[in-house]
Amino acid sequence: MKIKCSQCGLCCRLFLVTLNEEEYRSGKYRTQFEEFGLIKDFHKAVACGASTLKEKEDGSCPYLKGNKCSIHQIRPQACWEFFCASKSKKFRKMIEQIKKKRDKLSASEAGTFFS
Ligand code: SF4
Repeated sequence: MKIKCSQCGLCCRLFLVTLNEEEYRSGKYRTQFEEFGLIKDFHKAVACGASTLKEKEDGSCPYLKGNKCSIHQIRPQACWEFFCASKSKKFRKMIEQIKKKRDKLSASEAGTFFS
């Protein structure tokens, strides 16, 4: 049975998205420090955080509209690789953070967060 994304939007609110080299060089995505232009050396871009997607003031991804990704067809590799129901060890810490946030939200009954 294939488990579907519940579209809670938590992962798009909690985590920074790092672009791969091709994505960064494409210039298609809104990135940290974009006002200074692309950095030619990708390794330097990674080191200074310029290869990560820009964040909105609340820390969420600028492409998140409601609880949906507005660039779903071209979302970065980091986004299509991650799934909060994954059994992969590499996502374990991220999944734990999502669970904690869900628990916190349900404990405080912050239903407006998802509206
Ligand atoms: S690009 Fe789309 S899937 Fe990736 S964090 Fe932003 S809204 Fe979520």
